[in-house]
Amino acid sequence: MSVSARPYVRPCKDPLSRPFWDGLTAHQLCLQSCAACDTVRHPPAKHCPACLSEEYNWTTASGNGVVYSFAVIHNMILPQWQGSGPLIIAQVRPVEVPAASVLVRFNEATNLIYGDLVNCDPSSVVVGLEVHGVFDDVDDGLTLLRWEPAPAASVRDRSESAR
Ligand SMILES: [Zn+2]
Repeated sequence: MSVSARPYVRPCKDPLSRPFWDGLTAHQLCLQSCAACDTVRHPPAKHCPACLSEEYNWTTASGNGVVYSFAVIHNMILPQWQGSGPLIIAQVRPVEVPAASVLVRFNEATNLIYGDLVNCDPSSVVVGLEVHGVFDDVDDGLTLLRWEPAPAASVRDRSESAR
C-alpha cells in the first residue's frame, strides 16, 4: 500500500490555517508572516509571537529546509500502517525562518514543520540534512507536505540547525 492510499485524519481548515492548506493543494508552501515586523511563523497564529501584531500576510516559501530533529519509527502500531517500512518523522526548519529566532524568540516548536521524510534511507538521516518539500496529493481534498533530501543535499553545521 502506498503512503498516499492510507486513511488519514483530516485537518481542520479553519480561517487561520486555510491559506496554508490551500497552498499545499496548489503545490506551494505558504507561510504566515507578520505585516508589522516580517517574522515568518508556523503554525499560523492570530498574534505575532515577536511583536503581538494581529496583521499578517502570506508568503510563498521556497520549500527548502534543514532537519532540526527526527525519529525513525520501525514498529507501526496502527493496523493500517502495519507491514510498512520504517517511517521517518522529521522536524524541519524552513530556510525563511532565521535560525537564531527559533530558540531566542520563540517556543522551540514554533516555526518548525513536522512531516514524513521520504525517498531517504533511515540510516542516512542526520540533524542538519538539507531537505526540500514535496507535495503528496492524497485525494481531491487533501495534499500533504512531505520532505525529501535536497538534490545534492549536504549537511549543514548541526549547531546551525539547532539555533
Ligand atoms: Zn511581528
